[in-house]
Amino acid sequence: MHRNKTLHKQSHSFQIDAAGWAVGAQHLPSPNFDARAEGTEIALLVIHNISLPPGQFGGPFIADLFLNQLDYEADPYFDQLRPLRVSAHFLIRRDGAVLQFVSANDRAWHAGVSSFCGQERCNDFSIGIELEGTDFEAFADAQYAALAALTLALKTAYPLMHVTGHEHIAPGRKTDPGPFFDWSGYEARYRLLQKQANPGQAAPDLAFRLM
Ligand SMILES: [Zn+2]
Repeated sequence: MHRNKTLHKQSHSFQIDAAGWAVGAQHLPSPNFDARAEGTEIALLVIHNISLPPGQFGGPFIADLFLNQLDYEADPYFDQLRPLRVSAHFLIRRDGAVLQFVSANDRAWHAGVSSFCGQERCNDFSIGIELEGTDFEAFADAQYAALAALTLALKTAYPLMHVTGHEHIAPGRKTDPGPFFDWSGYEARYRLLQKQANPGQAAPDLAFRLM
């Protein structure tokens, strides 16, 4: 992918191609996915946070984990990650750069045991977005800008109805994106972009933070 620094600073814009890959993101295909069941409505967006090692930003380790290429000796924390075969569809780094690991058409292994409004196995019908971050500090403005733009692109390409957090679909087991994730700021940014992209049109429904 071509990364133009000036453009990157001004604004994000993504488009999901027919194969489920975002034009405007860096593509790093992960093996940690399988096909969705025929006819699945991709209705849910799941927000996560991750940092590796926990609390440290900027390293290669999240992408390495999602690609099954993590050097388990690089940090004592990594030993417990050996059995994991996981990947979100997307990762948004602290500077707003967006990496994509799995086609949004496919089922990425990001949510694990989970339930949304009584529907189990959220991986089946969701798209997972990781923000590089923790439960203990604010996310970067550039991450919200990228997230809002990516959400708009995904809403345009898929019949998304809801955005929720991993903590909401796996309560007691997961805590991300956590108390520092600004749900109302995210929603406001999304609605603004949505309005700019479709002036004069009523916004299609996308409900945020339902449990
Ligand atoms: Zn998560």
